[in-house]
Amino acid sequence: MSKDKNLYEILGVASSSTQKEIKKAYHKLATKYHPDKAEGDTAEASEKFKEVSRAYEILSDNDKRARYDMFGDSAEGSEPDSDGFSSMRQKMYRKTKPMLHKISVTLEEIYTGTTKKIKVTRNIACKKCDNTGTSDKSKMTICRTCKGDGVITVVRRIGPFAQQVQMKCNKCDGKGKTIPHEYLCKTCDGRRIVKDEKKFEIEIAPGSRTGMPIVLEGEGEFHPDADEAGDIVIILEQEDHHKFIRKGDNLVYKKTISVFDALCGTKFIITHLDGSKIIVNTDKVINPDKKYYIRNVGLPEQRNPTQKGDMIIHFDVIYPEKIDQKKAKKLKELFSDLSQEKEVKLDTENYYEASLNEYNRDTSSDSDSDSTNSDSSNSDTRIPGMHGMHMPGMHNMGSANCTAQ
Ligand SMILES: [Zn+2]
Ligand SMILES: [Zn+2]
Repeated sequence: MSKDKNLYEILGVASSSTQKEIKKAYHKLATKYHPDKAEGDTAEASEKFKEVSRAYEILSDNDKRARYDMFGDSAEGSEPDSDGFSSMRQKMYRKTKPMLHKISVTLEEIYTGTTKKIKVTRNIACKKCDNTGTSDKSKMTICRTCKGDGVITVVRRIGPFAQQVQMKCNKCDGKGKTIPHEYLCKTCDGRRIVKDEKKFEIEIAPGSRTGMPIVLEGEGEFHPDADEAGDIVIILEQEDHHKFIRKGDNLVYKKTISVFDALCGTKFIITHLDGSKIIVNTDKVINPDKKYYIRNVGLPEQRNPTQKGDMIIHFDVIYPEKIDQKKAKKLKELFSDLSQEKEVKLDTENYYEASLNEYNRDTSSDSDSDSTNSDSSNSDTRIPGMHGMHMPGMHNMGSANCTAQ
């Protein structure tokens, strides 16, 4: 019997399958591998038939299936022997499925590190009765239904096939013993588990990664049939920040500057996540198409907090809506060496002087009709690529230094 394959794989169904789908898949495979019908290697077919039957036995029973989903293959304690008649049950060690708990953290908290308090409610083993469900163990009696085995053998008919399968005894819930009502544990009412609330303090180390789980071992839910409580798995979820975007250990900061600052250098302050100030001072030309960074002021590395990532700065260069004609003249004089105007030389009388309009139409409505219905005398100057470049008097400068588009 294959222990590596999961029961759903054995039947070739998804773990989300309905009972109808499971039944259908079983029928198909049971017919294929039935010892009376299989061709070729009958021993192998027989083995497959048993495997398929066992998978169906568990998955067709909603209770068993739930336990299988929770504990995996060890859910049934032991499988019946391959002949299906053994009542020996070797118990396997089982740990309850982990609980997930999400904690929301700010980028500030990740930068400095913090402690988060959480409160978790879950079932734990009843300490009063030591997970037996009874106030007096000596009063427990052997279950009459299963005679203490905890399992019963039933014959199941599926279509033309009769199959002998072992099932957990419902009467004693597989324990093999029953508890007289008056000796049920008063604390857990025989359920063997009690609801419990516990507070935990979660240490968030500086630079903690959001996808990396923090595990509180054995602090989670306890299933009454398990040997051990599950873990609580803490998942950190970082809230969006209004100024910074996290990229690994780097922080991305967006800074808006004027075109003049971009050309002549600038000075500005960045308030960091811990409130400290970074003064950025540059006399370089800033090209918005390039990336800039400040070394070692990003997030601390989780393993080595003295080491930090970088702060990447994205510049957004803002152009003025208008420019004063006097200032424009001065600027032109200052940048005359970069002006294209001197290149405009006419050797013909045949020319047309055009004025430049801002192209700000919605591109979605910018259909073919646009080019046929000429709506202004300056239709020849509508240049789609010039969208948003409204810089009267400054286009020379713009094209020389900023490669704005
Ligand atoms: Zn029983
Ligand atoms: Zn109890």
